[in-house]
Amino acid sequence: MSLKGKVALVTGSTSGIGLGIAQALAAAGADIMLNGFGPADQIEKERAGIQAAHGVKVGYNGADMSKPDQIAAMVAATAKAMGSVDILVNNAGVQFTANIEVFPNERWDQFIAIILSAVFFGMKAAIPVMKARGWGRIINIASAHGLVASPQKVAYVAAKHGVVGMTKVAAIELANEGVTVNAICPGWVLTPLVQKQLEDRAAKEGSTVEKVTHEMLTEKQPMAQFSTPEQVGALAVFLCSDAAKTITGAPLSIDGGWVAQ
Ligand code: NAD
Repeated sequence: MSLKGKVALVTGSTSGIGLGIAQALAAAGADIMLNGFGPADQIEKERAGIQAAHGVKVGYNGADMSKPDQIAAMVAATAKAMGSVDILVNNAGVQFTANIEVFPNERWDQFIAIILSAVFFGMKAAIPVMKARGWGRIINIASAHGLVASPQKVAYVAAKHGVVGMTKVAAIELANEGVTVNAICPGWVLTPLVQKQLEDRAAKEGSTVEKVTHEMLTEKQPMAQFSTPEQVGALAVFLCSDAAKTITGAPLSIDGGWVAQ
């Protein structure tokens, strides 16, 4: 399947799942706009590496996904520099855990801004571009936590449930516009975000990363293994294909059976 001639904007693609998705879409032929934080030289290395490996155009925009005006400006800048925004992957995310009564207010606001509101502002800016071309794919990276809850993750779970709801609204509104909107709901994927959770938990429990890895996986997933950014990337590529033309408004689990229970 070729995405040649399509332009994909992937938020939070300097690391982890977003980077895996950007690489998979580039391998399928799409031009890519990267976004996310990190050291400039490392980002440039990734950008140039993807461009060279797949012979596609790869740009970078450092918009802060907690800032609505920067999100709109990034979508406009991508359309201007690369000719369109055909595929929007809303992926940027953060993690923090605490019980509700001690969950810091500023963390709540930050999570709602980056995980929930950014998806709204990104879709709002990209939808007119997609409608004008009669083709588009919006892929929102939600989570198993968009479908079920865990303790100590109030803002994350609330925001991800909101992302799943917003995905359904957008899918209905765009059903006859050539634009599909879906949510990918991963279980555990080994990325820097999860590595930090493992290390924090091992330190807190005086345990080893290996031991808490097994515990953390089997607490939630019947299948005791991580999904990979490459697998999530392959699912995103599939959602952009003609075969997936009528899949819309769906939360798609890639979670080792987490929410089957
Ligand atoms: P990660 O920490 O490896 O990557 C997060 C990315 O988001 C980075 O590129 C970071 O720079 C970017 N980012 C963070 N705040 C930003 C901001 N304000 N503006 C722009 N970019 C910002 O994390 P990951 O594990 O790859 O997570 C990616 C997405 O997948 C998140 O939405 C996360 O909730 C979701 N997810 C992850 C898992 C998992 O197990 N790793 C499971 C389910 C869902």
